[in-house]
Formats: sequence, C-alpha cells, structure tokens
Amino acid sequence: MLQESQDNAATGSNQGSSVSLEPAGEVNAFERFAIAAEQIAATTKRLAKAAILGEYLTALADEDLRLAARYFAGSPFPLSDQRVLNVGGAALLNALQAVSGAERSSLQEALVKRGDLGDVAREVLPAADSPTLLLTDVEKSLATLVETRGNKRKLEVITALLQRATPLEAKYLIKLMTGDLRIGLREGAVEDAIARLAQEKVERIQWVNMLTGDIGEAAVLARHRQLDQAQMRLFHPIKFMLASPVEDFTEITSRMPEGFAVEDKYDGIRAQVHIAPVSDNADPLLHGVPHAGARVALFSRTLDEITPSFPDLVEPLASLPPVTFGAGLILDGEIVPYRDERILPFQALQKRLGRKTLPEDLLREVPVAFVAYDILYRDGQVLIEEPYQARQVMLAALELNTSALQRAASQQFTDATALDDEFQAARDRGNEGLMVKHLQSPYKPGKRGKDWLKVKRAIATLDVVVTAAEVGTGRRSRFLSDYTFAVRASEDDPTLLNVGKAYSGLTDVEVTELSNWFKAHTIEEFAHGRVRTVEPKIVLEVTFDRVQASKRHKGGYALRFPRILRIRDDKPPEEIDTLETVRKLAEHMAE
Ligand code: AMP
Repeated sequence: MLQESQDNAATGSNQGSSVSLEPAGEVNAFERFAIAAEQIAATTKRLAKAAILGEYLTALADEDLRLAARYFAGSPFPLSDQRVLNVGGAALLNALQAVSGAERSSLQEALVKRGDLGDVAREVLPAADSPTLLLTDVEKSLATLVETRGNKRKLEVITALLQRATPLEAKYLIKLMTGDLRIGLREGAVEDAIARLAQEKVERIQWVNMLTGDIGEAAVLARHRQLDQAQMRLFHPIKFMLASPVEDFTEITSRMPEGFAVEDKYDGIRAQVHIAPVSDNADPLLHGVPHAGARVALFSRTLDEITPSFPDLVEPLASLPPVTFGAGLILDGEIVPYRDERILPFQALQKRLGRKTLPEDLLREVPVAFVAYDILYRDGQVLIEEPYQARQVMLAALELNTSALQRAASQQFTDATALDDEFQAARDRGNEGLMVKHLQSPYKPGKRGKDWLKVKRAIATLDVVVTAAEVGTGRRSRFLSDYTFAVRASEDDPTLLNVGKAYSGLTDVEVTELSNWFKAHTIEEFAHGRVRTVEPKIVLEVTFDRVQASKRHKGGYALRFPRILRIRDDKPPEEIDTLETVRKLAEHMAE
C-alpha cells in the first residue's frame, strides 16, 4: 500500500510535508523552481501568486530567468522553437515505475486517487539526498529527450533525469513534461509577474512575447529595459482571435450600430500561414519548410505546426510572387476541402486528418484551399493594431485568387435586414453561417471578444468534452463507444458539468482510435474497465433534438437524443461551450 502523502499544496496545507519548503540549493537550482511552484499552488490569490513568482524570478541570472519564465508558462520550449516533447502518460508511468520500484498496480491506484502523475511521483519516490539539479540541467535533458528516437531510449532519458531529482523536483519535472504545471498560473500571470519586476506595463510584455514567440526572451529584455529592441520574428504562431456566438441578428446591430463587415463562416480548419524568403543563416529549430526559395509554415488554432499535413498548400504558398510577401507575411484563415470551384463538406477533410502519411491519391481525392480572411504582418510591418478595414485593404492587395489560395469576400452592411439572405447564401455556398466583424477592430490575439460575432448553422450544436467512456453494445461491444460529455460551468469557471451521453455519429475507425485513446488516458475504471472516467481532452461537436431540464445532471440540463457530428481536434477543451449557452438554447427551444 502506498503511503498517503500529507502534503497537499493545492489546498494550501503544507504541514507535515516530508520535504522542507525552505530553499536549500543555489537560486538556479531546479528545487527552487519547484518550491516556488509549490507555494504558488498553495494560494488561490492572484496577487500572492504573482508576488511569489516575481520574487523568485528576480533572483535569477538571465539564462535561468529565460528558462524559468518558459517553464512557468507551462512550455518546455519557446513557441518559436519547432521542438515538441511528445511524451505520453504511459511513458512517464513506466519511468516512474523504474525509478520508484513501485508495483504498477499501486502506481495506477495512486493516479486514480490523485489524478496527476506529478503528484504521484512525489508520493512514491524515495527521499533523496540534497538536490543537485540546475535549471540548465533540466533544459539539457529535455533537449536530449526530443532528439532521442524510440520508446526504449526515451524511457532511459526520462528515467535518468528522474533519478537525479528529489521527489519534489520529480513532481514538477513530470508536470513540465506533460505541458501543464496545474498550479493555477497561466501565461498571462507570468507576463504579469515580468511586468511587475521590470516595472513595465503588462501590454508591453505581451507585445514582445507575441513578437518573439518566447516569454523567456521577453523576461530578459524587460529586465534590461530593452523591450524596444524586440524584433518581430516569423515562424512561430500568434494566438488566434476568436469570435463570440450571437443568437439573432438584432444583437449585431445593437453592438455595431455604425455598420459591420460580413464574411462567410467557413467550416474547415483554422490556420495561420507564415511565408518569408529563405534565409541562409536560418535557425535549424525554426518551424516550417523551405520550398522554391521561400520558407512556409502553417499553424493550427492550438498553436501546433501542421505544415506536414498540407504539402499541397506549401507549393502554392511558396510560389506566390516574392513581392506579395516581401520580407515576410502572416495570414489568418481557414483550410477547406475544395474541388471544381466548390467547397466540400468538412467530412471530406476529415479523411486527411490525423494520418502519419498522406498518399498521393488521397491528396488528389481531397484537394484543399486556404481561404485567407486576415493579415497580421507584411514586409516588416506588424498589422494587428490596424483597424479591420485597413487590414482588409492590404489583404485584397495580395490578389489571392487561385483555386488553392483565396480571399474570403468581405461585405459591409449598416443594418441587419439583408442578413437572412446572406446567411442562406453562405449555406448554399457550402459554408456554416456568417462571421460579423467590427470595422474598426484591431486583431486581438488569443481573445474571444465581441468584435467578431459568429452566426452558426440553424441547427443547434454544442462543443463538449468527453468525461467518461463506456463499452458499447452489439457490434461495438469491444470498444469504448458511448461517451458522457460535459460543458464548462462558465468562461471563467472550468468546472465540467455533464449534459448528456452519445454513442452514434462516428465512423468505426474514429471509434477505434478514440477507444484506444481513452484506454490510455483513463482516470478511473469501474465495472472491470467497462466504464471509465477519462482525461477531459477530447472535444466533440454534438447536435441534439432538444435541451431539457434535468435533476440527474449537476448543471441542471440534459440534451435529448444527442448525436456526434465530429471530433474537434482543432479545439482545446478550454474553448468548449458553457452552461450559459446550454441555458440559452433551452430557453430558445422552449419558445
Ligand atoms: P467556433 O469554432 O464555432 O468557435 O467558431 C470560430 C471559428 O470559426 C474560428 O476559429 C475559425 O476557424 C472559423 N471561421 C470560419 N470562417 C471564419 C471567418 N470568416 N472569420 C473568422 N473565423 C472563421
């Protein structure tokens, strides 16, 4: 039996912890990082978190500050760096088993109880001698890990790193490798702390973080009062601006009485395109691929590089006349399946997604187009602070008009009367609905505001996250094919509230893949593994007949006859719909 750890940082109680939170090592010791993280987790107060972080960061030398700022933002590497760790929960569990000597079953039991592998590590690892790891050691090990091929050798690297760590350090090493420290700190809070310690406005830090794609670099520049020197660097994703839903057209005119722009809402994959001339001394870790004298990269809405999935877009993008992109170009838009001058249903594109290789015949069968609807940077100029209208003029000047590269038509209206017809026309063109945009609005990276409004399909759909999976019946009795799903309590409250259960709508291939994923990401098993609560990461778009009040569900609503429309790999679970949307739909449907 495992010993119950008495430390519970998340609830703020540290009494009885077997590891002292008095820093012993040098300031650049990884232990100091772990202690600061532990203290940040122990308070729910934003200001207190910022103060602890600020104090910790201030003490660090430049190179360590660079690393610690990145690590606190939850990323082992800067966004501008193409390296990704790709270490799964199973590999970490194996490593932990090797280092602790614990039984597999007791590790799994501990995982079920704690729900976080980092917490388990702290619980099961034997007390270590005094800590020896430095921040730079961690950096080196993570760099080696990315370069290591093969599961067995990766396991050796992780094991070697954990062996050098104290239980507390191991806790945060594991969290870092899974990409989330879970101490109630987001990148925004790290920007806040940097702003405080440099006595700068947080907006300036955010700006430099966006330009450089490296919060570590922003921290060092801020410390030396050199924020002005930050240069826009291409080939790292800029966070995407998002839209808020509207129920009816009157809401649009009340928000934008002076007029607004209307575009089709394309049903594809959001993508950001970067193009620049190939440079001789390009960093080998840069995202993108060189082609015909230009470098091209595509990023998804989750800020992952997706260039290899669209080789058929690289060629047309790289072949744009060099004057079009000058010293560099960043476009925002949508990748849609497109053939014979028509946009095909999203399902066609699904065939191409999630594949390791893309055979020629599949590329021919499902051709794609990139439809640009915004421009964020061109030839040395960052354009995100320009108003929408000005950006549209610059976008139009690029004359994107081939079958692979197009521009979304943007029309201006002052009242909503024509919108019914526009909505129908967009649907007839194979698109999902309309996007309405404020004419004077800047591009706000990472913000879901009211400057962009989305008017979706007439049938009601919700984006939800799967919280539990169950073995199906009949043909699907070998798979976890029935999914309980949840919405968020609100934009600010990430509590998940179940609203229904669906088991139809996916292909056999999709169900098989999901079933395997859920098996590997189970939190707790019931009925001999036939029912499992799972890590809430898989986002589904569901439709249903009606929303009804329900006492059985905590949120108070249940969807009747839900069907799965598709898996939304492009949407992170933080962006699923909220209970508020469910409530509105319930009211709407009752009318
Ligand atoms: P949703 O996924 O329902 O939250 O809607 C937002 C998504 O609509 C964006 O992330 C884009 O992928 C997509 N979209 C389609 N057409 C447009 C457009 N013209 N402007 C902005 N976003 C669009």
